[in-house]
Amino acid sequence: MAQIGFIGLGNMGLPMARNLLKAGHDITGFDVVAAAQEAARSDGIAVVAAPTDMLGGVDTVVTMLPAGEHVRSVYLGDEGLLAKAAPGTLFLDCSTIDVATSREVHAEAVDKGHAMIDAPVSGGVAGAEGGTLTFMVGGPKEAFARAKPLLEIMGRNIVHAGGAGNGQAAKICNNMILGISMIAISEAFALGQKLGLDPKVFFDISSAASGSCWAMLNHNPVPGIVETSAANRNYQPGFAAAMMHKDLKLSQAAASHAGAATPLGAEAAALYTLFVNAGNGNLDYSAIIKMIGGSAAN
Ligand code: NAD
Repeated sequence: MAQIGFIGLGNMGLPMARNLLKAGHDITGFDVVAAAQEAARSDGIAVVAAPTDMLGGVDTVVTMLPAGEHVRSVYLGDEGLLAKAAPGTLFLDCSTIDVATSREVHAEAVDKGHAMIDAPVSGGVAGAEGGTLTFMVGGPKEAFARAKPLLEIMGRNIVHAGGAGNGQAAKICNNMILGISMIAISEAFALGQKLGLDPKVFFDISSAASGSCWAMLNHNPVPGIVETSAANRNYQPGFAAAMMHKDLKLSQAAASHAGAATPLGAEAAALYTLFVNAGNGNLDYSAIIKMIGGSAAN
């Protein structure tokens, strides 16, 4: 049984912590928001008043925070987790953050004698609740080996993608494909409809032809075509447009940092910025077809 500290008990973090608790591990939690603390307490998680308050009693810390700035504030600095934890503590950062911050935090963890992995996820809240997440992991082999039994409780597919930050790299490269694909599908279905094609007939053709892709088959933006699609539920997420927007911005920051040309990623980021700024951040990312194609989503 591991003694685990869990920081960031939001939509994803709380069900993940709950699964670790159910598996028999000892969980101490922290969140800055009172409602999240209360929800954790009512699930039987001991909640402390500050992240460092948990350090005396834990050998492992999992973080599930919104963005890089939150990860920095919790991990770094004289009062941060890395400075205060006993050497040898294992850190699992499951947040989706920028690669540069992730690598900086890894370096500091190594400097302080800790083991660390970055382990962003896909699978959403349903995956967190069901313990079926995919974890994309970056970090040293030894840290991965220590973390794996815990990841297997929270997830189903656990992939070691290489060194520090490579989990984040895999996550944002994958989601850049997804964002670009969704826009391509939206354009094609909207154009097809304007040309007189029935969307279902076009789906039957394209999904069995060279235009097929995962987003078309699973998250088709036109209602009434694919059972699993958020389009059938008035575009309630699913995977929120705000999240796609965040991941596309991360991919663009990484591309700029690495000197990589990603013109379609940049265009996808710009289109999701327009869509989110128009007040659609809480809709599923497939709802971008409303902006692109108009009538195809009606
Ligand atoms: P969320 O906003 O529901 O949860 C984040 C939690 O962190 C909140 O409860 C917030 O109060 C807490 N927090 C913020 N700053 C803190 C701090 N300094 N110390 C302690 N707690 C702090 O977000 P979420 O949906 O749970 O997402 C968490 C991460 O998982 C994000 O990086 C997101 O991109 C990623 N992610 C989310 C999904 C999804 O479907 N929700 C899917 C894949 C990945």
